[in-house]
Amino acid sequence: MRIIRFSDNGRVCFGIIEDGYVHEIDKSPFEAGGIKGINKTGKSRAFDSVRALAPSAPSKIVAIGLNYRAHAAEFGKPLSEEPMLFLKPSTAVLNPDSEIIYPSHMSHRVDYEGELAIIIGKTAKDVPVDRAAEYILGYTCFNDVTARDLQGKDIQYTRAKGFDTFAPMGPWIETGINPLDVRIETYLNNEKRQDTSTADMIFNVYELLSFVSHVMTLLPGDVIATGTPSGVGKMKPGNTVEVRIDGIGSLINTVRAR
Ligand code: MG
Repeated sequence: MRIIRFSDNGRVCFGIIEDGYVHEIDKSPFEAGGIKGINKTGKSRAFDSVRALAPSAPSKIVAIGLNYRAHAAEFGKPLSEEPMLFLKPSTAVLNPDSEIIYPSHMSHRVDYEGELAIIIGKTAKDVPVDRAAEYILGYTCFNDVTARDLQGKDIQYTRAKGFDTFAPMGPWIETGINPLDVRIETYLNNEKRQDTSTADMIFNVYELLSFVSHVMTLLPGDVIATGTPSGVGKMKPGNTVEVRIDGIGSLINTVRAR
């Protein structure tokens, strides 16, 4: 099932995408506690007439550093013994087909990082790995935009990862993929830069959700960005960046000078 969040004359709505149509649903899947609690309102519109918003409005984005074997090797880092967590602020969220603003007043090296994102469906605290799937509403594409020069300069990641527009996500939530082995690709100006299976993750999505939930409570709509594979690189104003995940679709954004 594909769940889209969109705006209808300023009103935020949720819908299910089926057969070229968006069928509006009566409440958000986060209020409903999952897809079982949602009902179609009977209002539908052509898919082409709907502009997707970021598929949730998270209270927080928990991101994972160095979670792919080949990416750790690319940075010359040993494999992590535990997931490495950092936060991106909710104010960094960016809609699909919107502009990443290049913060040239502070940074001169801004990278894309294509990632699979977990969308939390219900409140999760101290969840064992074998029950993690119950707390996941679905998955979407995520770009963990990073000011790489500031990541090196600062002791921690807050500034490098936290600029407004540095968390593009979407275009919708897919509930039916196998997150343990799905192909993830990133294209810069239509040139392929990243192409890996999530099978290369050091910690899989269930292990990550369980681990994070033993640190902090995850709320419905929260996002876990599961780390980027190898092949990260810089973007410039005027570039178009696409994160494509098999079974989900494409998240496309452009970069604009501040
Ligand atoms: Mg990342």
